[in-house]
Amino acid sequence: MNDITSLTLTQTISALKDKQFSEEELNNAYLEKIDALNPKLNIFLEVKKNTRGIPAAIKDVIITKNIKTTASSKILSNFIPQYNATVIGKLLENGVSVIGKTNHDEFAMGGSGENSAFGVTKNPWDFSKVPGGSSSGSAAAVCADLCTFALGSDTGGSIRQPSSFCGIVGLKPTYGRVSRYGLIAMASSLDQIGPMTKSVEDTALVLDWISGADGYDSNVSSEKFKVQSSKLNEGIKGLKIGVPKEYFGEGLDPKVEKVIKEALKKLEELGGEVAEISLPHSQYALAAYYIIVPSEVSSNMARYDGIRYGKGRENIGAEVKRRIMLGTYSLSSGYWDDYYAKAAKVRTLVKRDFEKAFEKVDVVVGPVSPTTAWNLGEKVNDPLKMYLSDIYTISANLAGIPGLSIPCGFSEGLPVGLQILGKQWDEETILTVGYAFEQATQWHMEKPKL
Ligand code: GLN
Repeated sequence: MNDITSLTLTQTISALKDKQFSEEELNNAYLEKIDALNPKLNIFLEVKKNTRGIPAAIKDVIITKNIKTTASSKILSNFIPQYNATVIGKLLENGVSVIGKTNHDEFAMGGSGENSAFGVTKNPWDFSKVPGGSSSGSAAAVCADLCTFALGSDTGGSIRQPSSFCGIVGLKPTYGRVSRYGLIAMASSLDQIGPMTKSVEDTALVLDWISGADGYDSNVSSEKFKVQSSKLNEGIKGLKIGVPKEYFGEGLDPKVEKVIKEALKKLEELGGEVAEISLPHSQYALAAYYIIVPSEVSSNMARYDGIRYGKGRENIGAEVKRRIMLGTYSLSSGYWDDYYAKAAKVRTLVKRDFEKAFEKVDVVVGPVSPTTAWNLGEKVNDPLKMYLSDIYTISANLAGIPGLSIPCGFSEGLPVGLQILGKQWDEETILTVGYAFEQATQWHMEKPKL
């Protein structure tokens, strides 16, 4: 048999059923690997020994009962929650255990993992590169086979972009598909928790587990996502695939573009009907996002006032402070209608672009990120440059629609992700497209040599 840790979640479940190994052997195999690799990669902030169940890695911005939860911030460095986030409860009910808490950008603000107060996570494909962010540790953990699957959170791309940089599958569900109860808030109108996995099938299964009604989050739909393997197997013959021309302009690395174009060709070979579309307000999305997010951040961060969590603001990092200040400014009286209210209007225009597009096409496909993983340190002192790398992912959050990132090739030895966006509540179709692509290609099987 293959190495236990290289198995996907669905493979692990059937191997456990067939008694090919025990849960103890499964956990020990992962723990051994974590012991060997974590010192080099800095993926886990906390590791749980002696657990039983299917081992999952959880972004440390998701609350875990009796397990330290830091949001990768010094201000929460000794915070031990007394309850579980709803998603954790749902995972436990399905035989999953938390093997560890993963590193990420402080309070999920960033795109490279470098804003963590506890040091940067390395990209398993090349230790001199960033793993992407903000769910840096969760992506690297799945990529390096240090867990069966992971959870991340995505406010503007934080599941999809690190998934793309590490060559794994990641899904940002429809806003309201998954409970946010117990997710430490960044920007509440955009945040969603989602799966980060070794295959599309695994992502569908984890979404099935974590979605559904929650009395603690009034935004959550009572409709549970259900995996229909018959639907996943249906293929994409005749499916209409829109490719936004705005996602292929200036700033897109030509080497990444080449890989994406080849992936589009593959989708055509599989029977998809690929056609160019336009999302005309895309060019304003980034500016709107970087007003709306800091505004919500400034409100959400007010609870860390030095009283409730014991520690003061000297324990907050530069990027978080920058957003608090920006947001406080754009919400202040006399300015809010020029900034926040305008950005909210632009958000509606971005949402309408998608609604119009989805009258004609079933999914929208393009790159996840304009580049592959960049060098550690390359953008960390230039926030605007860092923000620009979110250009293709933020629109899905502004519109509330689901987005999937799947491995679709390599550029100079680094993974490239294909982004598949769908209608609100239609995770099924984007997963079907991802599954068809995965069945027809080998990219998701590639692993870094560690
Ligand atoms: N990189 C984006 C930001 O810094 C996205 C963050 C996220 O999705 N949590 O806001």
